[in-house]
Amino acid sequence: MKRSFPTRTLRIALSLCVMLTAAPVFSTTIPRAARPQYDDPYADFRNARYSNAGLLSERDEIKLGTQLHREITKRFRLTDSGLDRVERIGQHCAKASLRPALLYKFHVIQSREINGFSLPGGHVYVTTALVKLANDSELASVLAHEVGHIVARHSLKTLKESQDYDEIAKSLGELTGVAGNLARDLGVALGRMVGEGFLVVHTRDEEREADFLGVRAVSRAGFDPQGMITMFQKLRRIEEQDSSLLGTLFSDHPDAQERIDNTKYEIARMRRGRVKLPGD
Ligand SMILES: [Zn+2]
Repeated sequence: MKRSFPTRTLRIALSLCVMLTAAPVFSTTIPRAARPQYDDPYADFRNARYSNAGLLSERDEIKLGTQLHREITKRFRLTDSGLDRVERIGQHCAKASLRPALLYKFHVIQSREINGFSLPGGHVYVTTALVKLANDSELASVLAHEVGHIVARHSLKTLKESQDYDEIAKSLGELTGVAGNLARDLGVALGRMVGEGFLVVHTRDEEREADFLGVRAVSRAGFDPQGMITMFQKLRRIEEQDSSLLGTLFSDHPDAQERIDNTKYEIARMRRGRVKLPGD
């Protein structure tokens, strides 16, 4: 069934991924023995292969990203503050991702909200508040998680389910520049999507997959993967103190414990696989 934007929206202007958007997939109160099939929380993703097959081509995905980024710049104030650091750490994580050939662009949004999200075509956004909050390995974990959404083409899959997919795909295919009626009409449709947060709202499974891809990429990039755990802990502490700083998505799904547990599981597993981790 095709999704319509308004039913999916809900959420505000800067509706975000911020890593902590997903509720537990299974309750941590269930005894371990009762759920042996879940011993590996990332079992579904270990052998996944990623491509644009069945989705927009990479070329059209990049065009889509360019158009969406224009809409973002209309709605949010981008800043150079902290950008060098975000770019340096982000590019390391992107190169260590399962989609290293794509050209990634990292952006900083001026905002007191702690947030991050990504869009198709390699655009990753974090807010000034998040950049200030996070040390390098924590920032790496957020950026690698966002890159993970791009690797797994989550927004492209969401777009494919939208009512406007055929029209958008056709427009992108015909689009040769950023001017003209076609670009303008497309801009209106995409602007609506950005405003509604349509492409940055992910399912729980998608969040889990981005966590999985993220923790492995930060390790390969040379950052301490424990940063993902301490980032979750920091966000949880802030949620308890002043949840308005985390935006509505976070307050919908405040429980970070399972994601911390899953991250610990994966770090232990990487260690068992004799992968020497940064921080060891
Ligand atoms: Zn996410």
